[in-house]
Amino acid sequence: MDISVIVPLYNEAESLPELQAWIDRVMHENGFTYEVIYVNDGSTDGSWEVIEALAAANPEVVKGVSFRRNYGKSPALNTGFARATGDVVITMDADLQDSPDEIPELYRMIKEEGYDLVSGWKQKRYDPLSKTLPTKLFNATARSVSGIKNLHDFNCGLKAYRQKVVKRIEVYGDMHRYIPYLAKNAGFSRIGEKVVKHQARKYGTTKFGLDRFVNGYLDLATLWFTNKFGIKPMHFFGLLGSLMFLLGFIAVVIVGVAKLYAMHSGGHYTLVTNSPYFYIALTMMILGTQLFLTGFLGELIVRNSSRRNEYEIEQELGIGQQTVAGK
Ligand code: UDP
Ligand code: MG
Repeated sequence: MDISVIVPLYNEAESLPELQAWIDRVMHENGFTYEVIYVNDGSTDGSWEVIEALAAANPEVVKGVSFRRNYGKSPALNTGFARATGDVVITMDADLQDSPDEIPELYRMIKEEGYDLVSGWKQKRYDPLSKTLPTKLFNATARSVSGIKNLHDFNCGLKAYRQKVVKRIEVYGDMHRYIPYLAKNAGFSRIGEKVVKHQARKYGTTKFGLDRFVNGYLDLATLWFTNKFGIKPMHFFGLLGSLMFLLGFIAVVIVGVAKLYAMHSGGHYTLVTNSPYFYIALTMMILGTQLFLTGFLGELIVRNSSRRNEYEIEQELGIGQQTVAGK
């Protein structure tokens, strides 16, 4: 099969028939073999009934998964990814803001230009300013943290992937905002971008509020940390803890020596506890020790993780199965 289209949706009943007809038209015009996998994320507006009707009319093409409750866009995408069978996997929003007309070119970029992932770029957006402005800031931060300098729009719902990319990455929580970063961390570095048409929402309302930006930054911090220190937390906490402890220790030595010197030379002196530096030093030593111990705890957790030695091996040469220990 050429293409799997994955559509996560939450209360988008009105848009679905139009979307399906549009996808069908584009696919037929270009002669693609395809499937459309709808992932109903706990809709309460009858979206699932609409999907059932669409599937009844076209059982070869329309497939669906329905969650018992609303989990979020990332779980929906992840579930769709697991079921995709097309060579190229396309994700798109259900609200008709993304245009199926972009599919043939996205497909071509993956197949012919060798990209692992192509992300849409809503260069001209039809969304309120309260959304587009913070989005600019969000993307600039994501670019510098992830090191993917050529992407303008990380969170575009319209994306195309080589099938092995979606089988390899795991999208959970709200991590759909950073799928290019996830792909890069999994070793898929050929990440491209295509300017795509964007439309104002025709039916229904947006499912994400302004809290998306706060949560987005926290998730970015998590990804950065887990990617850099996920299996060697001591390198993070150990360094920080040692530095703090050392600074505190030096400060304590200075406070102590200064007092001894003052006593010895018969100058004016008071209790060390009268000096603010004493308390600063004490706090730093305690915090430093705690950070260091956090590092140890992190290492113990990693030791127990079944994934600590999981690597993506692309090829092997001349090694028999029986000589590979473990697993
Ligand atoms: N969506 C979902 N689960 C959710 C929230 C949203 O599956 O909990 C779907 C939604 O139905 C749409 C896509 O994710 O197909 C993008 O959502 P939306 O259009 O509300 O986001 P925006 O365009 O405002 O960024
Ligand atoms: Mg939308």
